Amino acid sequence: MKLKVITLLMMVCVFVSVSAAQPSEPVKIVATTTQASDLVTILLGDLVGTEVQLTALLGAGVDPHLYKPTESDIAAMGEADAIFYSGLHLEGQFDTVFNALRERGIVTYAISTPVKEQGFTFGGFTLSEELVDVDDPHFWFDPRNWELATAGTAEALSELLPQHADSISANAEAYIGDLQTLHVWAVEAMSVVPEDQRVLITSHDAFNYFGDALGWEVRGLQGLSTQDEAGVADIQAIAAYVVERNISVMFVESSVSPDAIEAVRESVTAGGGRVAIAPRHLFSDAMGAPGDFGGTYIGMLAENVSVIVMSFGYDLPAWPDGLLPEMPQELLTLE
Ligand SMILES: [Zn+2]
Repeated sequence: MKLKVITLLMMVCVFVSVSAAQPSEPVKIVATTTQASDLVTILLGDLVGTEVQLTALLGAGVDPHLYKPTESDIAAMGEADAIFYSGLHLEGQFDTVFNALRERGIVTYAISTPVKEQGFTFGGFTLSEELVDVDDPHFWFDPRNWELATAGTAEALSELLPQHADSISANAEAYIGDLQTLHVWAVEAMSVVPEDQRVLITSHDAFNYFGDALGWEVRGLQGLSTQDEAGVADIQAIAAYVVERNISVMFVESSVSPDAIEAVRESVTAGGGRVAIAPRHLFSDAMGAPGDFGGTYIGMLAENVSVIVMSFGYDLPAWPDGLLPEMPQELLTLE
């Protein structure tokens, strides 16, 4: 009898120790865009790779307007506990998949939600034949919008991982402070260019929020979505504007073909004018590669500011003390 009890106790102990040693299944999170995956990574910190398995779908240089989810993307989303995406139809080919996933009870969170709810999106745009009178999806380019997105995403992540709500909230608070510092620096940097030259000409219309946050006029050659091809009339209209405003430089984006902007330059040149194309691209809908300065939201925005200001021939103000990632020296000289 005694032996039996001891054996039973031993078995219980073995069972307990085995179950305690077995790590629990990680929470599976899928992030669509590079921006979404950067934000989730910053908010979760060390939890990524331990308690959370994070899968990022779109890499550097990938255009989210045109990207169609692959079979492995759909499989990853189907197995996920939650999906964090940009929203406002930026991921235009994902809408049907998102609906199907929601019906299966998978959490989907658009990180643009609080920006939309608080009325900071620009409306009245046409994205495609079906998407008329919708919001401009490029909300992240105003760092104040990204602060709101940070707070909202932190809340959604805390619901998913309530035992880590304190660390997620602390990470959000610290990051929002960094975003405020970045915004102040970016406004100062973009103000170095004289007011009459502050016009940003790009391939597609991704920079309305950026221009609004930093006090610049913006003109995109294609519409809000890269699905709209620029026609001859669009090219001629922008070329005429470049000549009229005496604009010295235009910009190509990392995720969009340079052909249309090249065509504008040819049109300006054919009319006897002169305009340059910046030697470095801007990040619009995709950030840089992980590990690069432009692979983080802060680095992406700062690199855009650096490329713009220096392409216009001006110097940048000093990088804020303590703001990470540190701006690499090579961004202070254009080659
Ligand atoms: Zn876009």
